[in-house]
Amino acid sequence: MSQNQLISLSSTEPILKFPNNKPRFARSTRLLISASIGVCAFAASCSVTLAQSDMQGSQPRYKPVLSQKPTLLRPTQRPLELKVNTWKGQRVIKLWRGDPAGKEIALTFDDGPHPAATVRLLDLLREQHVKATFFVVGKKVDEAPWLLPRMLAEGHEVANHTYHHINLDNAPEAVVMSEIKLGADAIQRACGLRTFSFRPPGGHHNDNVLSGAEKMGVRTFLWSDDPADFANPGAEVLEQRLIGKVSGGALVLLHDGIEQTMDILPDLIARLRKDGYKFVTVSQLASHLEAAAAAHKTAPQQTATNSPQHPPIR
Ligand SMILES: [Zn+2]
Repeated sequence: MSQNQLISLSSTEPILKFPNNKPRFARSTRLLISASIGVCAFAASCSVTLAQSDMQGSQPRYKPVLSQKPTLLRPTQRPLELKVNTWKGQRVIKLWRGDPAGKEIALTFDDGPHPAATVRLLDLLREQHVKATFFVVGKKVDEAPWLLPRMLAEGHEVANHTYHHINLDNAPEAVVMSEIKLGADAIQRACGLRTFSFRPPGGHHNDNVLSGAEKMGVRTFLWSDDPADFANPGAEVLEQRLIGKVSGGALVLLHDGIEQTMDILPDLIARLRKDGYKFVTVSQLASHLEAAAAAHKTAPQQTATNSPQHPPIR
């Protein structure tokens, strides 16, 4: 078994926050219009009027992150983390990220499905022509199985996030295997798909978890970028943590049912598209990585990850 290793230093990257954490409501395009008519004496009042009318709308808006100047609040020391893609022969069986040279990104949404929220997320992804991956929880699938056929029909990948969403680091291997099987069974009942893509809850994956996963024949997906959307840090902070940070081969960890994630997605998608990235599922990311490794006779080197912490087991 060949293994390609990289030590990534998630260093003293600061947590950035904006001086005013309230949502910004004025759209840049409207501000531009306001500025262009600024030659008249009423320019200032026009801008205020436009901003206020946006604030009164039903959709809260905020300015894109790159147009703002963040303020450094305090540096956060992050531990040295080992982020290693694991290979078994020509097959990658544990992924932190895909091929860094590839202009593609996998958006992943964990912890669903949720009857109302997932429908809205699917609507948004369809509108944006983005294919993503849903790491679903088996017991939630059993409560809303009708959502999974739509995911598949619209080109998304449905993947296994266990049945009960427990911390597998505390579980014996037999329980790990049972959680993987029960999760996969729930998905199969709902949409007929037998998935072999797996993400352990919270990303917890000790040797026991990995050996259980290997025995179940599943590929384990972790992530390269985690903006911690589960903590609801604010849409602007989420954008700050992703825009300009996400790069080729990224596996981006997001969560289904988080309103702030819904808020940033259109802008995030537009910016990544503008940078030339395509959106793929995790299985596509893995197979493209394997193809790149085969072409180069060795696994591509990874790059640093942007992954501050384990998300909580909810
Ligand atoms: Zn989860």
